[in-house]
Amino acid sequence: MALTGLQIQKLLPGTNCKECGSNTCLAFAMKLAAKKAAITECPYASDEAKHTLGLANEPPVRTIGLGPEKKLINGGETVLYRHDKTFVNRTILAVNIDDDAGGEEIEATLIKVRDYALERVGEFLTVEMIGLTQRSTDAQAFAALAQKAWQTAKRPLILCGQNTEAINEAARAVAGSGSIVCADSEEQLEALLPVIKECGHSLSLSAPDLDTLAALCAKLRDGGLSDLLLAFVTHTLAEQFQTNAVARRAAIKDNFKALGFPFLHFITGADPFQTTAAAVTDITKYGGICVLPSFDPAQLAALMTLRQNIFTDPQKPIQVEPKLYTIGEPKPDAPVFVTTNFSLTFFIVSGEIENSGISAWLLVPECEGMSVLTAWAAGKFSAANISKFMQEINLESRITSRRIIIPGYVASISGELEDNLPGWKILVGPEEAADLETYIKSYL
Ligand code: SF4
Repeated sequence: MALTGLQIQKLLPGTNCKECGSNTCLAFAMKLAAKKAAITECPYASDEAKHTLGLANEPPVRTIGLGPEKKLINGGETVLYRHDKTFVNRTILAVNIDDDAGGEEIEATLIKVRDYALERVGEFLTVEMIGLTQRSTDAQAFAALAQKAWQTAKRPLILCGQNTEAINEAARAVAGSGSIVCADSEEQLEALLPVIKECGHSLSLSAPDLDTLAALCAKLRDGGLSDLLLAFVTHTLAEQFQTNAVARRAAIKDNFKALGFPFLHFITGADPFQTTAAAVTDITKYGGICVLPSFDPAQLAALMTLRQNIFTDPQKPIQVEPKLYTIGEPKPDAPVFVTTNFSLTFFIVSGEIENSGISAWLLVPECEGMSVLTAWAAGKFSAANISKFMQEINLESRITSRRIIIPGYVASISGELEDNLPGWKILVGPEEAADLETYIKSYL
């Protein structure tokens, strides 16, 4: 829970020595409360003050880093609803591999996971982790498989199974990969904990109910182990939804630290509709890591798209850089299309022009990431802004064609644009990007 300036002042020495750059300890406390200063700027702050402030500044859901350099970030959430602010770190998607699946199948899945990349609105979306479930009895074989999975796919692993010896061997085999080791019971936890610490992995904890799980987490956290994930035992979609919501609400609304960790969920079953529904529930309702039962590119495409939408900051639409883009290999006499820098608009428009088979220029002025009509209504996609941007990038000297095609939705700016751009012919294109190909074939 964030502390007020007055609460922070009580933790400071109170000597008003000014060494922090503030005239008084109270002024410095106010800066700290507003997150405009760091406690380390006071050379006399006690360890207790640093500790208390450190805890107060932690997000209600702990941020954990995975992978060898801990760059795969999960958790760190501060709100229950995306529209309150934003969700911070997207649900990590993983694909499970059973160790008894057979060598060829395992090899093929590893390669598919490694090579999967979906490009959407300028982002490359990938499968970030691999779940490895131990079902056979050979501990050494499981360790060898973990090593192979890590070396082939270069993805941190999520190691789970009942054979503690096999899990420990596998955890040692991928030491330094920043993987996750799953403990299903307190007994298993005790046997796994030393290896987890020794190899720098994170721990996923499970317990029959939330109370037991919270007590276990509190004990581990007090013991100095904080890179935890919570794996809830649920049996239905409704139970999964409810448990995720109850635990996250306790962490964010009640600042209940014992449940303030990212969630990990292994989805089981073979029905694609059921498994997709479970993954959608995770993505939309606080799931930290969602392990899919198999590699299915159709399912992944749907989930990646959903995930990208849910985890986009609603106040900051995905944007492309304002500039003159080329489509194909346009010559100076190729036509110039213009659209806004909202990523979705840009990629749809550029894709449709590309589909038509012509080479063209695509002019994208700064519109703060808004779509065509929104930018026009906000005065960002106006004749004045378009012509100003053309001057800034010196378009006239680069292009000999004097044809610019504006979106049909902003036909009303064509007159003003013509006045601003003497010698240019302003053509009004279709309203919908889907009609661009027909328009191009008919008029250009
Ligand atoms: S340096 Fe510390 S003790 Fe001195 S004024 Fe700043 S907060 Fe107070």
